[in-house]
Amino acid sequence: MSFLNIIILLVISVYAALPTMALQTQSALPTSTPTSNDQRLRALAEKLAHKYIIVDGHVDLPYRLRVKNFKFVREFIGIPVSAKDGDFDYIRAKKGGLTAPFMSIYTPSSYQKTGGAKQFADSVIDLVGGIAKVHPDKFALAGSPDEITRNFKKGLISLPLGMENGAPIEHDLANVAYFHKRGIRYITLTHATDNLICDSSYDTTHTWNGLSPFGREVVQEMNRVGIMVDLSHVSDSAFYQALRVANANNVPCIASHSSCRSFTPTFQRNISDAMIQALGSNGGVVHINFSTLFLDDKMRLVIQEKAKELEKILAAKGLKEGDSLAKPIEEQFQRDNPVLLADVELVADHIDHVRKLAGVDHVGFGSDFDGVGNTLPTGLKDVSQYPNLIYALLKRGYTESDIEKICSKNTFRVWNAVSKAAARLRNKK
Ligand SMILES: [Zn+2]
Repeated sequence: MSFLNIIILLVISVYAALPTMALQTQSALPTSTPTSNDQRLRALAEKLAHKYIIVDGHVDLPYRLRVKNFKFVREFIGIPVSAKDGDFDYIRAKKGGLTAPFMSIYTPSSYQKTGGAKQFADSVIDLVGGIAKVHPDKFALAGSPDEITRNFKKGLISLPLGMENGAPIEHDLANVAYFHKRGIRYITLTHATDNLICDSSYDTTHTWNGLSPFGREVVQEMNRVGIMVDLSHVSDSAFYQALRVANANNVPCIASHSSCRSFTPTFQRNISDAMIQALGSNGGVVHINFSTLFLDDKMRLVIQEKAKELEKILAAKGLKEGDSLAKPIEEQFQRDNPVLLADVELVADHIDHVRKLAGVDHVGFGSDFDGVGNTLPTGLKDVSQYPNLIYALLKRGYTESDIEKICSKNTFRVWNAVSKAAARLRNKK
């Protein structure tokens, strides 16, 4: 296990620890008397959030359902209140104008070693399909921007599928087309560790020094089949090498949930200025991750430090976070150790940064809702709060047309280009 693997485990344990951590937050929104212009922009933000389709590049609801055994369908979706748990539900999504959250079909890296990744991914896809089946009046699957638009007009929330970690492709190229048939429209090439396709930004093994020979074929096949190549999570070398393959095919790529590394110099998981520019030149889109861990290095380091401390205290008593006996200790620790979180303005800063480097055509939302515990910024705590971010952008002078692009048009442009290129590449054969 590499040093960075240990960090990953730590980050994962941070996520596990955070939901119960008391977090002292800074105020997201101005407390001074609102001016009439402010009120106008707030009302406009609210209106635009519902006027335009909002696509979110990454929502980890399936993980919450599958791994935490949260019974979405029976216990929660049918009742007319917001869930007390998690960041996403129908009521809050409707309130925030969220129209098309990409459901993350996440496969833990451990499956790479144990086998069974394909079967696991299939079960998670079935689970999302089940939501749409049980609640056809609220949700629908969607395999294209056109389908999302049609669902939007009917008032339905679309559940497009993005696969986080290419491990379920296993070592069989035919699985790329298989998963396209199953509805997968992007694949994040890897996750926490190097896999058969490429190296991970969290791993220091450098197994392939970027993309493996098989990974090169996988990217080619994704271009041919029409699955968006997601460059979040991959190492820098893998990023550039995959982009080169896609560029040769004239196919744009995405980063489904990454923020800007210039705000977090020690966090390789975010993308650098040069990578943002390269993705912009490729015609792609960076979907900004909302978690404080992705927005500010100092805050991230403190949160990780505190999580480590708590873990040690619990371990000394033979306990783990989440154990019932650990609860009072955790609560006391939270009271004694409040931490600072980012606010919605900092998310807007990251969007601004991409706009300055690559242009407004190359940025979108990739919240990581339901995947980052209680590290979400003030003003962007759940799917009901997209209007706060739109308001922050309007205050900075973003036009309605800019907002529409960031909400969905940019992602749709890439998605449609990928589908079109696939038809072209298949004909060429
Ligand atoms: Zn992720």
